[in-house]
Amino acid sequence: MAGMVDERAQLEVTTLGECRIDSPLSAALRRQRSTQHYVDEDDRVLLDDTVSLVAARGVPVAELPGFEPGGPRSKIFFDPSKTRVGIVTCGGLCPGLNDVIRALVLELTNHYGVHRIFGFRNGYQGMTARYGRPVVDLTPEVVSGINEYGGTILGTSRGNQDPNEIVDCLEQLSINVLFVIGGDGSMRGALKIAEVVEERGRRIAVVGVPKTIDNDIPYIERSFGFQTAFGKATEAIRAAHVEATAFPNGIGLVQLMGRHSGFIACYAALANNDADYVLIPEVPFALDGPGGFLEHLRRRVVDRGHAMIVVAEGAGQEYLSTKGTDASGNVRLEDFGRYLRQRIAEHFAAAGVEANLKYIDPSYTIRSVPADPYDSVYCIRLAHAAVHAAMAGRTEMVVGRWRGRFVHVPIALAISSRNLVDPDGDLWLSVLEATGQPAVFS
Ligand code: ATP
Ligand code: MG
Repeated sequence: MAGMVDERAQLEVTTLGECRIDSPLSAALRRQRSTQHYVDEDDRVLLDDTVSLVAARGVPVAELPGFEPGGPRSKIFFDPSKTRVGIVTCGGLCPGLNDVIRALVLELTNHYGVHRIFGFRNGYQGMTARYGRPVVDLTPEVVSGINEYGGTILGTSRGNQDPNEIVDCLEQLSINVLFVIGGDGSMRGALKIAEVVEERGRRIAVVGVPKTIDNDIPYIERSFGFQTAFGKATEAIRAAHVEATAFPNGIGLVQLMGRHSGFIACYAALANNDADYVLIPEVPFALDGPGGFLEHLRRRVVDRGHAMIVVAEGAGQEYLSTKGTDASGNVRLEDFGRYLRQRIAEHFAAAGVEANLKYIDPSYTIRSVPADPYDSVYCIRLAHAAVHAAMAGRTEMVVGRWRGRFVHVPIALAISSRNLVDPDGDLWLSVLEATGQPAVFS
């Protein structure tokens, strides 16, 4: 029972104070003869979704852990006419960043009547005085059409900045609401910013829109840009497969993004169903020996004339040494695809078997493209949920998606773990079924 209380507390989102201001959205909603679009502040999106999970808790339904639902509130915390907003994008590129920026600006301007929105250049650098990067005034005109392009109009960066300097910047510009669009590192930074804000007794909402092309942030069923990314990745697999089938003993090897989570590799491989092997960080595999991957690959190439391999960049790291850390402190991974290419060449040469291997690593061409229509829709809806949350005084949270609902997830919870492909789950089972690879290379 104590564990249950803790779990419920972990899911609670911090609120800056009582919401007393009538939401300006009500006029628009009344035109639709309905106010039921407003979220009931006592409602919760349950953490559990099966009877067995609920039964295992043995508690009344009201005590079950649940997320605060996203959506507009009838009473809001910030007076829109006095609200000043900042937007920053940090970390690696991901399809859909510009869609999110545009949707934040349009929702704030057109529906809440907020008219001072600042964009910070190059991530947290743009909020740190010593870089001297001028802020951008974000208006509907400035963001018009930006969703047609990949990347982010605000630019991005890595590297740690002092949260005290960042909060100085927020205070100097009298900003009440900061939207951070970024990955796990950016959200760690956002949490530190929110902590400094609290120490200084300020009422500044810090709300994140989680960006992770790898789909590795928990409580976000699917992150924006992920669908675009794996869709684009299928082009590389298709090309490698065409090459592999054209040459005698052809081998296609495609390395896709996925430092810790192999979702892009799994989805891309399933999407065109040409892969014979998928290797991901979550499922260890032996390369050598009679039950190892190389032996299996050689037998298949000899039997069938070709093979197609998809690897996630973070797979097989146990075979490689790490290369230090990047500016943000992330461990730099060795390139497993290149290593595997070398090992395959050596293995086939040692066995006296011809191999024609084509290696494709499309990572930058994948993450720099504009969002596909599905992701564009999703970005807009995430941005709307983020604006509703911030205007209602929510802080230290990211917008998530759980059981098909937009929810508020405390940042501390969103960075507490990683979303991983479950080796015992149905996604990996589908990959095993589609590829026909053995469940274990040992
Ligand atoms: P992705 O990994 O998807 O590219 P990310 O947001 O994790 O995105 P990082 O480069 O790790 O990318 O971090 C982005 C920004 O967040 C950096 O500018 C860095 O200053 C800041 N940051 C990262 N980790 C922390 C931390 N522990 N505390 C404070 N700030 C951090
Ligand atoms: Mg990261």
